[in-house]
Amino acid sequence: MTRVFSGIQPSGELHIGNYLGAVQNWVRLQTQYECLFCVVDLHAITQPYEPASLPQLTLDMAVSLYAAGLDPEQCIVFVQSHVVEHSELNWLLTTVTPLGELERQTQFKDKAQRQESVAMGLLAYPVLQAADVLLYKASLVPVGEDQVQHLELMREIARRWNARFGQGYFPEPQPLLTPTKRVLGLDGRAKMSKSLGNTIGLFESPESIWEKLKPAATDPARVTRKDPGTPEICNIFTLHHGFSPPQTVADVAQKCRTAGWGCLDCKRVLADNMIATLKPMRERAEALRRDPKGVAQRLRSGAEKARALARRTIAEVRDRMGFLKPGEA
Ligand code: SF4
Repeated sequence: MTRVFSGIQPSGELHIGNYLGAVQNWVRLQTQYECLFCVVDLHAITQPYEPASLPQLTLDMAVSLYAAGLDPEQCIVFVQSHVVEHSELNWLLTTVTPLGELERQTQFKDKAQRQESVAMGLLAYPVLQAADVLLYKASLVPVGEDQVQHLELMREIARRWNARFGQGYFPEPQPLLTPTKRVLGLDGRAKMSKSLGNTIGLFESPESIWEKLKPAATDPARVTRKDPGTPEICNIFTLHHGFSPPQTVADVAQKCRTAGWGCLDCKRVLADNMIATLKPMRERAEALRRDPKGVAQRLRSGAEKARALARRTIAEVRDRMGFLKPGEA
């Protein structure tokens, strides 16, 4: 079966932007492919972070993924640092990765600009991404538009390693272009992000969801209730696509264009649909939080399954790269 790999940073609980932009799609993919989903804590440390908070953020992300619908019976969910082979393959791949390509990565240039002293881990971030995927010989990677350049580099790394050590050994991963939604924050300006404080958490209470939606940005042309709007430029309409049934979405568009209702009416319908969609997830998250040992056990079992695959690849890679086996004369 075709194998899919994707990762998410341990940023604590999911928000609706992560959910609509990636995880909702993963829940679908787990029934169609052999999927590995990884909480990428080794990637997280390339940015300033607080070591004392990392374990809880990692656990919160794992709880979020399970609560959102990733089923350990259908896919492998694990923490990146629990499978040490990621770090080993990362190093081995650095030896075939062109430095110039790393320096040209847009994300590196953006992040490096904002730092006084740039650590090598930030530069090598895409090599670790390549290791994540190639370790499992995954051939499909669900990517957002901001990751396409990294995927290209991943393919280049696979090609270079194959040319030197084993034609056709690593598949060149292909982007899995499935419909994902780019959700703006409640301010309607930047991408939804915890650091910008413009999010709705996946497990927020109904009251909190409504309190956050009420002041959220809409089409600025709708100054009064009588002004018609353009739903396509309104982030509330984007969110309706994520949480409301198609008939409601069509109804929203029509009422917006004809000034048939006010933005608060529109947001109330969205809030009701969002609350109904998120309720079972919130309940699952509460049950998981009451059982931290169960969550740890799920993660341990996921890491064991991932390691079984990773060990096989690393053994073959070591062999092809000519390393002396332990105990070999
Ligand atoms: S009616 Fe709805 S879609 Fe139209 S501008 Fe207001 S909030 Fe946005």
